[in-house]
Amino acid sequence: MKLATYQHKGKRNVGVVDEAGGTVAPFDLREDQAQLGVASLVGLDALPATGLPVPLSEVSLEAPLPRPARNIFCVGKNYFEHAHEFSKSGFDSSAAKGAVPQDPIIFSKVPDCVVGPGADIVIDPDVSEAIDYEAELAVIIGKGGRGISPEAAMDHVWGYTIINDVTARDLQGRYSQWLVGKSQDTFCPMGPYVVTRDEIDISDTPIRCWVNGDLRQDSNTGLLIFDIPTIIATISAGVTLKPGDVIATGTPAGVGIGFEPPKYLRPGDAVEVEIGGIGVLKNSCKRRNS
Ligand code: MG
Repeated sequence: MKLATYQHKGKRNVGVVDEAGGTVAPFDLREDQAQLGVASLVGLDALPATGLPVPLSEVSLEAPLPRPARNIFCVGKNYFEHAHEFSKSGFDSSAAKGAVPQDPIIFSKVPDCVVGPGADIVIDPDVSEAIDYEAELAVIIGKGGRGISPEAAMDHVWGYTIINDVTARDLQGRYSQWLVGKSQDTFCPMGPYVVTRDEIDISDTPIRCWVNGDLRQDSNTGLLIFDIPTIIATISAGVTLKPGDVIATGTPAGVGIGFEPPKYLRPGDAVEVEIGGIGVLKNSCKRRNS
């Protein structure tokens, strides 16, 4: 099932997407439930009834979880080729431990930097002009838990979406903790849809990113160094995961910092991230106050 959070006639809705039919059918949710976006459905025994479908062309898509309840968990350097390209970039404060991490690198992004499909990625030249894109598969946790075993981990996954883990590379390098460089306002485009776990085989799903139509990243989610069960087991060992938590699983090679000279994002650039079975997340870059 493919799900969307969207604005229609001045109101936030959550609905089931029929891409072939070009429609979305809204769930029957209270207004306060709908504010949570797709997170309002997580953990329900049965999904609510849906109303009359409306054309997708008449709605404005939002991030599936417009404001996650907690920081977004993220995994760094989780594809081999990207681990090597980033390690030699000069901005990797973890490089002393080797290009490929022995244990998952876990950091987070604040919920307030989430924006939806079509929203601007705002570049503030007073803060950073070394802005990079990172195409990532994100996991939505359904059933929470602590001490989740790798064997049981997939039972805790509710669905998947796309995240662009936009990063200010200079800030990431300057501060050994990555949060500031990863959490700048608008630096977490998410969407366009959430698909439920049964919908895609994440052991073999293409992940791609284009900037202004130029293919930069072209990989497969099956190539993660630390797979989703390992990531969930690692985080939940001592941190209780909750329904609606989001985990971004890392980006493949081809980010801007991997090029010589680096290909940073500029105002006017258009970034598209595609994951097979989920969709295409499109955002444009804009200079702050321009
Ligand atoms: Mg990342």
